[in-house]
Amino acid sequence: MPPHIDLHCHSTVSDGLLTPSDLVSHAFSQGVEVLSLTDHDDVAGLAEASARAKQLGMRFVTGVEISVSWNRRTLHVVGLKISPDYEPLLTGLAGIRASRHTRAQGMADSLSKIGIGGSLDGAYKYTRRDGIISRTHFARFLVEKGYAKDTRSVFKKYLVKGKPGYFEHRWASLEDAMGWIAGSGGIAVLAHPGRYDLGRTNMLKLLHEFRELGGAAIEVVTGSHTKDQYQEFAKLAHQFDLLASKGSDYHGPGHAYIEMGRLPDLPSICKPVWQGWPEMSLDTP
Ligand code: AMP
Ligand code: MN
Ligand code: MN
Ligand code: MN
Repeated sequence: MPPHIDLHCHSTVSDGLLTPSDLVSHAFSQGVEVLSLTDHDDVAGLAEASARAKQLGMRFVTGVEISVSWNRRTLHVVGLKISPDYEPLLTGLAGIRASRHTRAQGMADSLSKIGIGGSLDGAYKYTRRDGIISRTHFARFLVEKGYAKDTRSVFKKYLVKGKPGYFEHRWASLEDAMGWIAGSGGIAVLAHPGRYDLGRTNMLKLLHEFRELGGAAIEVVTGSHTKDQYQEFAKLAHQFDLLASKGSDYHGPGHAYIEMGRLPDLPSICKPVWQGWPEMSLDTP
């Protein structure tokens, strides 16, 4: 049996609920043997996570999930095996994090227009010092104040396109994000393609461009894909000669599509992004 792998999850450095150490311990307790931490737009949790993995004798892969704007849509690109001290990557991510503060102000302004005050401070209260501010933190504030019963319904009601708390934002370009990942020695993986609602033509266009820009893999098995989407994206990966990745996108207890360690194997037509990685052979801790 190959080791159980999870190449996508979040800690308190971005919008997860567990600290990097606790997240690694949790993954370990759930049977994950090879883990990557992929916080949104930040690599600040990698050193702590890697240290805990080492203590536990677990294999760890560096990672990040970069927010990108492409044709006026938001996409997420995961960078695996990035070097966390590569300056252009760090500067690029710092730029995205700074722009998140401006966006948060915009979100708070639009929420106050519909009579919801105090959301900026309320959302920041849920962030870690120097951590990113995201819609998830606004969601936690809105749930706390009783505007919706849970994160899922709060997004639907307030935080998605066309709703009062949504604020149009320009993220990094796909070219820049891919350049930072490649420059830092990393592997670019298109995160959860089934979530973009692009339509067939635009999806094909995206996969083509992603590949042209050096993209290596797409997430086929992820917490937010249905079983049908595993098959759909396995076929697309095959068609575009892209490798396949797998990750839970876990955000913490009660904030997860699926518990860690529970994702199925990739469909058999997939070529795994981890093929040939030394982390996958048992003699490499
Ligand atoms: P942001 O990058 O600030 O736009 O926040 C995006 C994050 O919000 C994602 O990474 C998810 O963790 C979370 N999110 C997005 N859509 C939903 C949803 N419909 N329900 C729950 N969480 C969501
Ligand atoms: Mn998230
Ligand atoms: Mn994502
Ligand atoms: Mn994610």
